[in-house]
Amino acid sequence: MPSASSQLNFLPGGRGSVGISQLLSKLETYLPPEQVARAQEAYELAHKSHQGQKRMTGEPYITHPVAVAGILADLHLDGPTICAALLHDVIEDTPTAKEDIVELFGREVGELVDGVSKLDKIQFKSRKEAQVESFRKMILAMTRDIRVIMVKLADRTHNMRTLGAMPPAKRRRIAQETLEIYAPIANRLGIHSIKLELEDLGFNALYPMRYRVIDKELRKARGNQKEFLPKIVSGLQLALTRDNLTGKVESREKHLFSIYQKMRRKRVQLSAIIDVYGIRLVVPTVGDCYRALGVVHSVFKPMPGRFKDYIAIPRVNGYQSLHTTLFGPNGVPLEVQIRTNDMNVIAESGIAAHWQYKSGEDVGTSQHDRAREWLASLMQIQEGGSPEEFYESVKVDLFPDKVYVFTPKGDILRLPTGSTCVDFAYSVHSEVGRRCVAAKIDRRLVPLRTELLNGQTVEIITAKGATPNPTWTNFVVTAKARAAIRAYLKTMKRSEAIDLGRRLIDQALTDFKLSIKAIDAESMVAAAQELGCETVDELFEQVGLGERLAPLVARHLLPPEFVDPPNSNAPATPLVISGTEGLLVSYARCCFPIPYEPIIAFLSTGRGVVVHRANCSNLDGWHKQPEKWLPVEWQKNIERHTFTTELKVVVQNRPGTLAAVAASIAATQTNIGHVSLVELDDDTSAITFELQVVDRTHLAGLIKTIRKMPEVQSIERSSH
Ligand code: MN
Repeated sequence: MPSASSQLNFLPGGRGSVGISQLLSKLETYLPPEQVARAQEAYELAHKSHQGQKRMTGEPYITHPVAVAGILADLHLDGPTICAALLHDVIEDTPTAKEDIVELFGREVGELVDGVSKLDKIQFKSRKEAQVESFRKMILAMTRDIRVIMVKLADRTHNMRTLGAMPPAKRRRIAQETLEIYAPIANRLGIHSIKLELEDLGFNALYPMRYRVIDKELRKARGNQKEFLPKIVSGLQLALTRDNLTGKVESREKHLFSIYQKMRRKRVQLSAIIDVYGIRLVVPTVGDCYRALGVVHSVFKPMPGRFKDYIAIPRVNGYQSLHTTLFGPNGVPLEVQIRTNDMNVIAESGIAAHWQYKSGEDVGTSQHDRAREWLASLMQIQEGGSPEEFYESVKVDLFPDKVYVFTPKGDILRLPTGSTCVDFAYSVHSEVGRRCVAAKIDRRLVPLRTELLNGQTVEIITAKGATPNPTWTNFVVTAKARAAIRAYLKTMKRSEAIDLGRRLIDQALTDFKLSIKAIDAESMVAAAQELGCETVDELFEQVGLGERLAPLVARHLLPPEFVDPPNSNAPATPLVISGTEGLLVSYARCCFPIPYEPIIAFLSTGRGVVVHRANCSNLDGWHKQPEKWLPVEWQKNIERHTFTTELKVVVQNRPGTLAAVAASIAATQTNIGHVSLVELDDDTSAITFELQVVDRTHLAGLIKTIRKMPEVQSIERSSH
């Protein structure tokens, strides 16, 4: 890498660009030599990486990161922030990767640059007022290190300074975003100097006519004030000295955008805002502030109702000052701010003040600690105000418990941290949640249970007739999704229970050579009431849920002529199982029955029908509760439906055996749901595969394939 000094000659000087030598000498005023040297190395890497690239202004690209670092150097930010500023565009725009930066400059600088690149990737599309605040919060939430925001703010400041080179439409979009998003963030963090510059530049780009009018009037007013202002300043300075107060008196610049906002907010004429003198007094102590207030009030008469004590009751971003308005010479108002030096630093740089380089500082201080320190200092000075509220609002932004994501249309949704695609779907609309079948994050298909991260764009794919999956309740975190899924399952279970109950009673009636159709409605209602149910559906539901036994209910439905007991030797008609019954027909996880092997079912209270293999060892329960078992059979030609089953495969312990067996299962187009492995001894292991199969033929073919493998010793169906 060539040394920086040899490249200095090629750097253009002049308007809009700050050379590296100026930056380095600025850094030398407050950073130790080794940190200045690191900044120079960062410059060299940036210079090499951006070689050949040009800005829209026609200048070499490197002028931009150097200018961004210069803005942060004015705020006296620490060495890593300066390095990150110099490198902030290399990950996005050049072949240099994050790993390269980490290797050369350490993890801290690498993470800062990576954080800025991630912020650059999210785009604010929606123009809706309500979305603006969410977007600001998203930006803060994405930032674990507040220095990332500071680099981003400085980046935006320089881009705004050079905005003239952009085409008009782009210029307006960037200016609007600056006014809506970045200036308020700078304001919230108290970085006043950046906030003011972003506002004036944004205002100029968005409303050039209004800007020009105010600018012209402001210049005129300054011209008028030339005569009196120096006299006022020296007069006040003298009065302070007479009272043994040390401190500075200075005249204050007015900012165009704040004048414009004031005009709109207070609906007053431009002249009423502009034709005033602005003065600032900076004194050593808080006590001096109040004494200085007494002094100025004795020199000029105060206007009633215009005094504000922001020292006792600071503004929410930590701003402190005394404000008063006086009757100046010729009755022109004189607006005075009085504050201490410390207050002045906070007023100018806010949270940035906590990252300003101080020699001998503890390098180990975590970024969260710094932010907490800032918040704590706000808490302290906020005693008079409503600190909790503000603390909460900033804390939420800086230590987020929410995640902010985009809809495909660019709207922002705020969800609790840990929310998944299903939570997102339900927060869009409960119908979207109910019918969601798949999700895309940043245009890539992901499982529905995927946790969302800040700034992602989430798209939900719905299907007609799709229904919520009971397993979703295992991972959703929002109350809305959880309640909606539970409510759905409850009604589903109810309607399925009614359906199943009707079928079970119908089946029981076949023993009497009858069917439900043969029973008239009145007898049905009468039987239901006889059994303590209000409606027939309630009776069916109880049967379906296994709370009542179908054969006993069937007896109540018999017409009087059927009093004779049925022929108990006649075989009962089996209930037909199709695999699509839903929640109230389940398959026992002890034997995992699949079509078309012999099956039998157990009526479980509350769970409905549980299907077992006919040779399942759990059938011993038969003897204890014979009335709870019922004959079932598979429907012929079950199509497009798979069943879960388990295979236990005993293999020799050899590297790669598990993968080989799994691969040969997958080769038979069988999904593997779950795998577990138990070592039996030194030589062998038992692998249990949970598989999705169509029927017995499918499984038999699968077993045949695996059995051929030399490492496989035995295969058996699981029976727990
Ligand atoms: Mn940039």
